[in-house]
Amino acid sequence: MTHSLDDTLALVRRTCQPLPPTPVPLAQALGRVLREPLRATEDLPPFDRSAMDGYAVRSNESSRSLVVVDELRAGDWKPRALDPGQAVRVATGAALPNADLRVVPQEDVTRSGESIQLRQPPEEGWIRRRGEDARQGEILLNPGIRLAPGHLTLCAALGQTTLATTRLPRIVHLTTGNEIVPPEATPTLGQIRDSNSILVRALLAAWGFPVEQRTAGEDLDCTRAALAELDPASIDLLLISGGSSVGDHDITGPLLESLGYRILVRKTNVRPGRPLLFAAREGAVAFGLPGNPVSHFVCCHLYVAAALHRLSGQAPSDLFVQAGLTRSLDQEPHPRESLLPARLAWEQDRLMTEPISWRSSGDVTALARVEALLRLPPGVGTLPTGARVDVLPFVWPGSDRGTRVS
Ligand code: AMP
Ligand code: MG
Repeated sequence: MTHSLDDTLALVRRTCQPLPPTPVPLAQALGRVLREPLRATEDLPPFDRSAMDGYAVRSNESSRSLVVVDELRAGDWKPRALDPGQAVRVATGAALPNADLRVVPQEDVTRSGESIQLRQPPEEGWIRRRGEDARQGEILLNPGIRLAPGHLTLCAALGQTTLATTRLPRIVHLTTGNEIVPPEATPTLGQIRDSNSILVRALLAAWGFPVEQRTAGEDLDCTRAALAELDPASIDLLLISGGSSVGDHDITGPLLESLGYRILVRKTNVRPGRPLLFAAREGAVAFGLPGNPVSHFVCCHLYVAAALHRLSGQAPSDLFVQAGLTRSLDQEPHPRESLLPARLAWEQDRLMTEPISWRSSGDVTALARVEALLRLPPGVGTLPTGARVDVLPFVWPGSDRGTRVS
């Protein structure tokens, strides 16, 4: 049976179940997925604080001439009442001595000795009130978010130093193929440098996942032996590069079956990435990824990312966004759905895209320029300039994140 892109994604999402949560110290929680709501354990800010260096005076103070009776620095806690005509010197962040005050910035005051003169009546607004950012008990983060620096800052402010986050999956990547040699080797004619291992390692690292990698030839015994050393039963996500098709030497399907996996997808109606294997076994999943690097790139961004999303317990989100074509598309319609390497640009506030020319799914030069994958439905070959298409973006135009080299 041949699966469409949407079918395959849905099957991957249905099959993968979130891994259990585990406590993680705040300093190691970046990129992990939160599994419990974060509640404000106290009001934020926890007390009325001065927003400026200046002077606290009674809110109904009518005099412009005042006597400074005390000084409060950030960290002090000295509750007290003020009499009319009294002021307290306060530093930015200092806890105010009572609730019925205004703060006058020091720029608006003339000081001489212990007296100050206000240049104008005290205004509201220079106080950060207790609870104005969040109230105790309020839910501030929902489960399923991938923790970013801003989330961690909030947790620290609330004293949440241990967070329940999804445990990391154990990911193993096995590269197969008799023709494959390590990138540092000099290939003899007929041999190919292994570019998929670094591709998979780099993508997973960018997504926050470690991976254990092995290489093996392409017979069942040597690939089984390579995996046997790794205690296959403890692998949550197994990725096998190459050999996912139905040729005489394509051993990934039989290898997965011999390890007890049930194969759920053997073929997709998507190019590149037709001979894709997706398999499941007691809570674990595996992919057989077609060996060409562009196929790898596409299959990782679509299916492997979807699997990791689910295994991590991340809240569902759309993979594709819409963009306009910068130029018309005129190519032979293809019976399969296509994912074309593409670039992105902003035109005023509109996201625009155009496909990169690439020769085949072995063309690694396209990968050095790719910023998005452009999704072309089956049978569509021509589209006018400006037509809306679905794109899966990786590098937003204007940012230099990612792997762009030109
Ligand atoms: P396969 O999926 O094993 O039939 O391989 C398809 C194509 O991808 C062949 O041309 C392989 O030589 C190439 N290929 C397989 N594995 C790798 C790899 N690790 N790095 C670069 N190319 C590869
Ligand atoms: Mg092969």
